[in-house]
Amino acid sequence: MSDMTANATLSQAHVETEKVFASLAAYQHALASHVDWLQSWYSSVLNWHDRTHPTPPADQCRFTAWFDAAGQSALAVYPAFAELGQLHHEIHFKADQITERAAEGHTITTSDYEAMMSLVLAFSTAAQGLERDAWRTLATVDALTGLGNRQTMMSHLIGERDRAMRQKQPCCVALVDIDLFKKVNDTFGHTEGDRVLRAVAESLRRNVRPYDVLYRYGGEEFLICLPAATPEAGRQVLERMRSAIAALGITSATGKPIPITATFGLAELSADLSVEESLDRADTALYDGKRAGRNRVAVWS
Ligand code: GH3
Ligand code: MG
Ligand code: MG
Repeated sequence: MSDMTANATLSQAHVETEKVFASLAAYQHALASHVDWLQSWYSSVLNWHDRTHPTPPADQCRFTAWFDAAGQSALAVYPAFAELGQLHHEIHFKADQITERAAEGHTITTSDYEAMMSLVLAFSTAAQGLERDAWRTLATVDALTGLGNRQTMMSHLIGERDRAMRQKQPCCVALVDIDLFKKVNDTFGHTEGDRVLRAVAESLRRNVRPYDVLYRYGGEEFLICLPAATPEAGRQVLERMRSAIAALGITSATGKPIPITATFGLAELSADLSVEESLDRADTALYDGKRAGRNRVAVWS
């Protein structure tokens, strides 16, 4: 998966890491079943003359059943998924051809062997690719909120800064910090605190522009990268987010209202500053917003 795909996935979709893990487990079972089938099939055609190894029926390979059911799974979003389904189909088709010829008394030719080997190798490469894409997602996503985590944030921000400078376009970064969140945990407990974090992340996700990218920056802090936004345009986007969070109306499990607000600090990435220095500016603005009374958008000046 390219970085562009990774960022598009991160900004638009809520990646549920538990679902990716569950899909990976089912996928690995399906792969193992296919490998077992393939081994039985090889033994069968290689020992055709003495029939000591019966040809395994196609449905003994549970890969097709898995593939047909996995169309809506977390793995189906990766390009290698469809490729894998196609290659698997071709392997069984080729295997059937070879079995038929063996049944007619022909021996396996070199070209049969090579055709089968190249399909199996392509399948194996696609299988590894799919797994690598899924693990990459898991490594870049925060498990609680499904947003991008801090590990990939810096390289993305450096890329966005360079792109903005090259294209002579503005680009802003914003830090978001939930107000008095410690009190939420103290009053309602950590589990409710986690639920609030997820709700805030979801609200931010709903209110970003399609090309903005969100990260969970730390505990109750988020970072937003706003490409092509001047500080004024960025401020308007953040204002929409701020009011959406203030209007969430979250209630606790016991039905008590949990009033939530957040403070935003915005700064522009600029050619004469490192990304870290721009983030420091956003942080300074955030701190000013907290001191000025919280629940506001503060722009670095
Ligand atoms: P301020 O308005 O000044 O930001 O006040 P605050 O209470 O939000 O700030 P503070 O930094 O004192 O508290 C942040 C709290 O966030 C403390 C910590 O327990 C909580 N927190 C951090 N990560 C998580 C998490 O993953 N889950 C939960 N439930 N709480 C978290
Ligand atoms: Mg904080
Ligand atoms: Mg806070």
